[in-house]
Amino acid sequence: MCWLLDVPLSNQKGYEMETSKGMDLIQNKKIAIVGGGPGGLTLARLLQLKGADVKVYERDFSKEARVQGAIVDLHFDSGLKVVRAAGLMDAFKANYMPGADKFRMVDKDANICLDEEPHGINDDFSNEHFRPEIDRGALRNILIDTLSPGTVVWDSQFMKMVQLHNAWELQFKNGTLAMADVVIGADGYRSNIRPYVTDITALYSGATIIQGEIEHPQKDCPEMYELVDNGNFIAMGIGKTIAAQPRGDGGLTFYASSLYPENWIETSGIDFNNSEEVYTYLENYYEGWNPIFFTLFRACARFFPRPLNYFPLDQNWDAKSNITLIGDAAHLMPPSGEGVNTAMLDALDLCECLTGGEFKNIQAAIAAYEKRMRTRASILGQEALAGIKDFSSPSDESVKKLYRLFGEHQ
Ligand SMILES: Cc1cc2nc3c(=O)[nH]c(=O)nc-3n(C[C@H](O)[C@H](O)[C@H](O)COP(=O)(O)OP(=O)(O)OC[C@H]3O[C@@H](n4cnc5c(N)ncnc54)[C@H](O)[C@@H]3O)c2cc1C
Repeated sequence: MCWLLDVPLSNQKGYEMETSKGMDLIQNKKIAIVGGGPGGLTLARLLQLKGADVKVYERDFSKEARVQGAIVDLHFDSGLKVVRAAGLMDAFKANYMPGADKFRMVDKDANICLDEEPHGINDDFSNEHFRPEIDRGALRNILIDTLSPGTVVWDSQFMKMVQLHNAWELQFKNGTLAMADVVIGADGYRSNIRPYVTDITALYSGATIIQGEIEHPQKDCPEMYELVDNGNFIAMGIGKTIAAQPRGDGGLTFYASSLYPENWIETSGIDFNNSEEVYTYLENYYEGWNPIFFTLFRACARFFPRPLNYFPLDQNWDAKSNITLIGDAAHLMPPSGEGVNTAMLDALDLCECLTGGEFKNIQAAIAAYEKRMRTRASILGQEALAGIKDFSSPSDESVKKLYRLFGEHQ
């Protein structure tokens, strides 16, 4: 069954949609999506295409409240498939970053070991290997702009909710309340909705990253800017890496990652709000590396340390009657280039289950969606955890393995 494919262009504005078939389960139901990341916004768009009554409650004060981060690549069988299903391919093509899907690997001396050209020769969207990159903020804007006015309720940080008969009363930090018949938690890796679905908590993967944002890399670290060359970049050493990616606004995001004990951020004694302390730490930790990398650290004004956590790969729970999870809230995993793609695929699967006319009630639709979602996430989670070992483990062998792996892909 594939009811969503290629929505006519005339229907690209959510509020021009007509109600479609298969809406019985959610007819006259209010749906609250908590979290306006790629997962939540995609779900809102897909549900509105089906005529659903949906709101997205987002913690950010406004669309412009914060930089969304670096680029993401969408994949043929997941992110791009969903973009197509949501009728947003033209908007995507107008906003993606041609050429940014190239990949460069250097060693700790900044010698280039591998330059991989983009797979999508001639930017061919029908080529399954083409993984076009798009700025996260641009993707978010595309999704927001196609929702009917007022769908996203900004400045709505979800705090808690209570069940009143068959509905939920949601409470937000700003003191407002909202009622919903169905609640979808799309509020990311520290989800506040998740405890209403399961008490399974996250585990530590063994790796931690220190993320840095540079606003004007061309001016503040020009040599590094040139080395990154507006694509995906990684410098590999034994047991430590520095990855970097351009942002759509000309900025640069980097991630210095390594294996650290659990709770290292708290026990390290480093004040991550004090840039000088972080520079000193990084320069010591990357001692012996080409000083060009230190210019990257010095160009950064604010650092964000993040432990890479994941939900257990065999997690399971009984489907609830009117609440479920998508994206990181459901299946956080270490970064492996799949997170946004998977969150969008969850949105498509959940929408399909809720509106496809296949299930007798919402609980059965949620159960079917969750089964699909968990199976997919378990496979991707295994790959992501294996990737952590290869990228961050302190062994000569893992670096050689990566060189071989990428070499074979050329
Ligand atoms: C360092 C790093 C690099 C990554 N690189 C990639 C990559 O290259 N490609 C890729 O596909 N994935 C990547 N990922 C993973 C990807 O970022 C996530 O998997 C993806 O963003 C998940 O989308 P989501 O919509 O589920 O959650 P999120 O993107 O986390 O969105 C959640 C939203 O909910 C809001 N929110 C949170 N709490 C509340 C609350 N209480 N009330 C209301 N709103 C709330 C947040 O403000 C946010 O807008 C990376 C992750 C990391 C950490």
